[in-house]
Amino acid sequence: MRAIQVKQVQNAVCTMVQKINYQYPSDIYACLQAAADKETTPIGKETLRILLENSRLAAEKHIPICQDTGMVIVFLRVGQDVHFEGGSIREAIQQGVRDGYEQGYLRKSVVSDPLFDRINTKDNTPAVIYMDIVDGDQVEIELSSKGFGSENMSVLKMLKPAQGLTGVKEAVLEAVKNAGPNACPPMVIGVGIGGTFDYAAVLAKKATVRPVNEPNPDPRYAQLEQELLNEMNALHIGPQGLKGDITAFHVNVEQYPTHIAGLPVAVNISCHITRHAREVL
Ligand code: SF4
Repeated sequence: MRAIQVKQVQNAVCTMVQKINYQYPSDIYACLQAAADKETTPIGKETLRILLENSRLAAEKHIPICQDTGMVIVFLRVGQDVHFEGGSIREAIQQGVRDGYEQGYLRKSVVSDPLFDRINTKDNTPAVIYMDIVDGDQVEIELSSKGFGSENMSVLKMLKPAQGLTGVKEAVLEAVKNAGPNACPPMVIGVGIGGTFDYAAVLAKKATVRPVNEPNPDPRYAQLEQELLNEMNALHIGPQGLKGDITAFHVNVEQYPTHIAGLPVAVNISCHITRHAREVL
């Protein structure tokens, strides 16, 4: 049994939420640079140049890339041979978010009750936390801070199995078309296929935090990712929705077995920042 102090997780979360708000993840930054080279329209090229300049200033001056500093989502994978010491792991994660948003002067965007009160909690908590028990004696923290310009454009559909591949593609492309400029393109599209109504959405969220240079290990799904990317770029929504070649940086698909009677598909749309980070303790 390996002992890990919850304070280590707290400190890691505190550092990660600040870093992802000041600096693009390296995979997304590479997409941004490549897009600036590839884009052929003058308006698209200029928009990407401004995003690159914005990124440089944010990193240099230690200011957020965007005013919307997001709601934090944490995927914690805990090795079954780990024993946490020093308090509650859930509370440590929330404290890490609290500390990070406070120390980093990041905008607090979370409200206490979604419908009636809508009072700002003033520390950006609570984060949404998913915990999995896995093999081993390590703890993997994967997190993102999701802006709601793109989150609001995400959709979930319960397709019939007969709708198959065509139905899945139509659902994803329709979501991207409807998102248009509202999701702050170029987007990263997370697609969850299978599982249940709820689990498809979790898969789509997981897909948005998977680095874009790690294609789906199943070649059929990797091909689907590529085909969807080509088809959404053919929509010419373009950088920031001002028309152009690059509508999306990447499509990540995650799949899971499902029921004989169903084909759930969730599309979680993420923006040109797609703040995500991974750390292993
Ligand atoms: S969706 Fe992304 S780029 Fe758009 S406002 Fe939110 S955080 Fe900023």
